[in-house]
Amino acid sequence: MSDPLTPDRVASVLRAEGVRVVEVGNWRTHNRNSKGPWGPLNGSIVHHTVTRGTASTVAMVRDGHAALPGPLCHGMIAKDGRVHMVGWGRTNHAGGGDSKVLEQVIAESYGTRPTPPTRGNSNGVDGNARFYGWECENLGDGKDPWPKAQYDAIVRVQAALCRAHDWSAKSVIGHLEWSSDKVDPRGFTMAKLRADVAERLKHPASWNPGSDHEEDPMAGITKRDIFDAVWKTDAIGGPTDAADHSTNPTWQPQSILKDMQARIRSMDKRMAAQTAAITVLAGQVGTGADTQTVVSAVEAAIERAVIDVNINTGEA
Ligand SMILES: [Zn+2]
Repeated sequence: MSDPLTPDRVASVLRAEGVRVVEVGNWRTHNRNSKGPWGPLNGSIVHHTVTRGTASTVAMVRDGHAALPGPLCHGMIAKDGRVHMVGWGRTNHAGGGDSKVLEQVIAESYGTRPTPPTRGNSNGVDGNARFYGWECENLGDGKDPWPKAQYDAIVRVQAALCRAHDWSAKSVIGHLEWSSDKVDPRGFTMAKLRADVAERLKHPASWNPGSDHEEDPMAGITKRDIFDAVWKTDAIGGPTDAADHSTNPTWQPQSILKDMQARIRSMDKRMAAQTAAITVLAGQVGTGADTQTVVSAVEAAIERAVIDVNINTGEA
């Protein structure tokens, strides 16, 4: 149980967590406080908007619509990761939900996820008094992607609230975990989100994942680049190409690979030839064939074996 953060405080803790905050109009005083209580607060709920387009989505969650007056959340987390603050106080985001879930969130007592809710909007307890609400710009069809910047911002916002209230990640739930008649958010699991929030809470608010390592030297390199660098060796001079000793005096690393390829192909051929020869010789034992016949048979077998290897390696 906690008193709500003040508008100044929430803006401050979000920015400290690395969130890009956009303050929309009179968000600090835009709320539904005249309609009911706000607080004590017990957690935070993540939603998706079922919309496309940031500007129209901000307007919608700020103003609401005919059936549901705004604000519809506290902040809207856009595709680009910016968090548009549209209201502070009681907002129309959580509706009715399951009191069992509320108890589990207050106690932070559940495992991977709370007990599935059996109560919803029509018959549940008032969630708008108890939860912060974050709408996230997404079509909610399970296909619309969640860009890394957006997902990262969701994690940061939730971590900032948990940090400020001394909550664990279990104080963060999805709307679908609160109300039996909701499916949002779709496209990632709340268990994964909570794991990422929990990881973030092990670090200071200023933490940027990956920043405690050197920049990844492989960043931006595709599998195709690696394939080309390693295996497009035919265009590069190597030690087996006498002519290339003059044109490739510096011995690029690929030259060594090309030399190995050539040696392995040569070994393949010799092994195939020896196997063929031994097979033929074994077949001649005890037949009384003369030497010339045996030699001819061995030579023919070797020739066939080498042709087979050439075909398999694309040389023939
Ligand atoms: Zn929702």
